Amino acid sequence: MQASLTVSTHFSAAHRLARPDLDYDTNCGIYGKCARPHGHGHDYHLDVTVRGEIDPRTGMVVELGALHGVLQEVIVEPLDHRFLNKDIPYFADRVPTAENIAIYIRDILREPLRQLGVTLDKVKLYESPNNSCEVLGTTSIDSATSTTTAKPKLVLA
Ligand SMILES: [Zn+2]
Repeated sequence: MQASLTVSTHFSAAHRLARPDLDYDTNCGIYGKCARPHGHGHDYHLDVTVRGEIDPRTGMVVELGALHGVLQEVIVEPLDHRFLNKDIPYFADRVPTAENIAIYIRDILREPLRQLGVTLDKVKLYESPNNSCEVLGTTSIDSATSTTTAKPKLVLA
């Protein structure tokens, strides 16, 4: 019997959204305020869903402490309180959008999760209360879907 299991964690990091091959005005046209030159920060919330066989002895897909340990070691420790563009080599030539960060997380999680005996089902990265990005564990390296939740309208009484 298989089941999926989701665990959550969070980290804080800074980024700047701009393509180095484009000028400032063009980057502002694409990325808006996120292209401002000195970066800005987010409190990222991450949901990681894994899938595996339920161990008949323990009743669990994977030992939760081991799963959290992998997230802490592979994601939180390297990314927390970093400037992603400069501190993480992967983003030296990729714009660290929520989509690209989610793909990065998926790609570095796959092997350690496989060693725990589970497969990566889904990574969902919340960049703010208004937007999140989801990538599936089995999809190709370039696919991501992102969701932007419209801000609630201000209702004046
Ligand atoms: Zn941002």
